[in-house]
Amino acid sequence: MSSKTILYVEDNELNRRIVRDLLRRTSYRLLEAPDGETGIAVARQERPDLILMDVQLPVVSGIEATRTLRAELATAATPIIAITSFALAGDEEKARQAGATAYLAKPYSPRDLLELIRRLVPEAQGTGE
Ligand code: MN
Repeated sequence: MSSKTILYVEDNELNRRIVRDLLRRTSYRLLEAPDGETGIAVARQERPDLILMDVQLPVVSGIEATRTLRAELATAATPIIAITSFALAGDEEKARQAGATAYLAKPYSPRDLLELIRRLVPEAQGTGE
């Protein structure tokens, strides 16, 4: 069985590294994009099983990228976890209206994120070492 693919759209390199380290010991395959426009392009091409979408992104915001992907057949039902900023009131509501499946406010614990990912997209069986 092939491993599940996660796309993380995030402009902050440190956050990307944290998630990279978090998923290293799982069977998930991680793709990364540094802005909303690239995130949309990678999602269209790779059809990930789940998308982690930072809300505050350059070029195209996470809200706009979520709305765009929701309007396309291939990604209309893909689980999207919006990573919102706790400090920015309204992020969560905007993400919900754009079609996000779930949200997590920064700062979050990596353990909570992994739990949420596993709940939405269980790891493939039989791919562990
Ligand atoms: Mn950001």
